[in-house]
Amino acid sequence: MNINYEYYKTTKSICPKCKKILAAKIVFYNDSVYMLKTCTRHGEFFTLIYRDKQKYVDSLKISKPALYPIKVFNNDFEGCGLSCGLCSEHQQHTCLPIIEITDHCNMSCPICLASNHNSYHISLKKFEKIIKNLLKAEGYLDFINISGGEPTLHPNLIDLVDTARQQEIININLSTNGRIFLKDRDLLLKLIDRNVYISLQFDGFDEKAYVKLRGQKVLEEKLRILELLEKHSARTALVMTVINGVNNKGIGKVIKYFLEKNFTKSITLQPIAFANPRFKYDESKVITIPDIVKEIASSSDGVISESDIINLPCSHPSCVALTYLLKLDNGKYIPIPRIIAVDTYLDVIKNRIIPGMETESYKKIKENIYNLWVSSGIQPESKNILKAIKSIMREMIMSGKNPNLLRLFKIAEKNVKSLFIHHFMDAYNLDFSRIMKCCTQYTVDEDRLVPCCIFNNMERKR
Ligand code: SF4
Ligand code: SF4
Ligand code: SF4
Ligand SMILES: [Zn+2]
Repeated sequence: MNINYEYYKTTKSICPKCKKILAAKIVFYNDSVYMLKTCTRHGEFFTLIYRDKQKYVDSLKISKPALYPIKVFNNDFEGCGLSCGLCSEHQQHTCLPIIEITDHCNMSCPICLASNHNSYHISLKKFEKIIKNLLKAEGYLDFINISGGEPTLHPNLIDLVDTARQQEIININLSTNGRIFLKDRDLLLKLIDRNVYISLQFDGFDEKAYVKLRGQKVLEEKLRILELLEKHSARTALVMTVINGVNNKGIGKVIKYFLEKNFTKSITLQPIAFANPRFKYDESKVITIPDIVKEIASSSDGVISESDIINLPCSHPSCVALTYLLKLDNGKYIPIPRIIAVDTYLDVIKNRIIPGMETESYKKIKENIYNLWVSSGIQPESKNILKAIKSIMREMIMSGKNPNLLRLFKIAEKNVKSLFIHHFMDAYNLDFSRIMKCCTQYTVDEDRLVPCCIFNNMERKR
């Protein structure tokens, strides 16, 4: 390669054309991080993976021990991408299992990570077996994600939800384009009644972005769906796919909306992954976690700064960055990393989607709240912060000695919002050192879990 790069480390990846597993270098060039790999048949690939060298290096310094599954379904490790199961070498448990219950969809987005062949709805029996095996592997689950295709097209969606609700699962998340709710209000109400989290695909307020990402004009429809979700106080997460030069400048407006509304509990920003062959790779469209962090910080009127968004230490730090925001009585939000020490924050958020549910994390949160108490008056906004925390605690205490976890979660959720940036990979930037720590997996079969980035790039039938 005729470029004056600086070598950093070696990993493995695949050829974007023939999918052969290749040795790859992680290198620095122009203050950014690139992956460099060569396929003997298809040549060299030089791919931008992180647009901030220093932040990349710093993020790798933070490491937290993993939580392992109680049971793995494959004991033979043959190499990543070859023996996913999860296998006994995998370095993280399943934080978020994704169950694709159908491959039918009422849209046809060029950027779709799935491939919809309109051929399949999961049977209740298979779904039950998947849940049973997940619980064997995990004991209990903070979240499961029901996805597709478009999961609302499954004719027995409510039966599936009811099956999951009878198990040790705190939250059920439904990833949807939301379209069906405009026609079938009853389905939405049934889901709300069952406390299902509606994860709505929402790419911002600019119609041009929808044409690019979704292949059609859907802004007006999205706004009507949001109105409907708000009207019924549906627990809603916004999921925005971000493409450089297409909708990255619209992030600020989406964050503002997210903070203003009570029904939006969470937001996930997903940098584009060129996993669907219909959406051709184009380096000018690549966006990475630090780009999104900068965009949020520069457009959120000081509410969220760059240092409030921290790389998740338990999956690979290049996969997920996040922050939690506490709502104060005056309606303002304060990022929780400003309230508790960063090290405690990292301990609390590691290994589970719902922070503070484990005894150790809970103790740490309590200690930090105590510190805040004694330093009251020193920290700006500390009085308001304590007031907000007291009101959450009061409500939690009033729930009795043995409240169920969903109830506690819903109390916290009234006052705390979460923001995630999740950078799924494509065949260009696929880094096997990230895969081994993957915490987000598809339930590909009844007893088989595969890291999403392996499945999307190496196994999914396109
Ligand atoms: S990615 Fe994980 S499950 Fe898959 S082969 Fe590697 S270690 Fe095993
Ligand atoms: S991204 Fe979602 S809505 Fe779009 S085609 Fe894929 S499954 Fe359907
Ligand atoms: S799905 Fe991909 S990006 Fe997400 S945690 Fe797993 S490896 Fe990382
Ligand atoms: Zn090749």
